[in-house]
Amino acid sequence: MGYLKYCSSCGARNKIRKLEGRRRRVCPECGTVHYENPRPAVTVVAVRDGKILLVRRAVAPAEGQWCLPGGFMELRESAEEAARRELREETGLAVSNLTFMAICPYPGGIKENLLVLAFVTENFSGQPTPGDDAQETRFFPLEQLPPVAFRCHREIIRTYMESPVNRRDRPDESSVKDRPPGE
Ligand SMILES: [Zn+2]
Repeated sequence: MGYLKYCSSCGARNKIRKLEGRRRRVCPECGTVHYENPRPAVTVVAVRDGKILLVRRAVAPAEGQWCLPGGFMELRESAEEAARRELREETGLAVSNLTFMAICPYPGGIKENLLVLAFVTENFSGQPTPGDDAQETRFFPLEQLPPVAFRCHREIIRTYMESPVNRRDRPDESSVKDRPPGE
């Protein structure tokens, strides 16, 4: 079944209408407008000794590729709680302090239309071990990053490199290599 092909209220086939200057899927039978909004997701730049933690994904999309740890917010969870939970689930690390750093709109992002909220932390304990959805975790020096999956994760890493929390010797942002086309 195609994405939003049918009305979620009455099951009739939606039509595309221009409303408020945007293309909306509207039900011709009951008039329901199927608004599309981004889903909030969180990601964490965990920094230790000037290196950042990446996880190698064990699941599609981008299986086998490196990215920042993170995931979707759950209902009734704050963004900080989500970031803390995702970091624990994917890497086993327990975070004490998170600082909000950046926001990245990601329409057509990782399977969904996302709004990625990025946190940075140097305050966590434990050694990372791959958990849910991760096959490997590793700290990378900023000047030796592997290709990173997902546009927003690359932008967030660049933002971290430019940010005041990262005052140490700053490598050239060109070390954040793009994935080949087709992501
Ligand atoms: Zn309907």
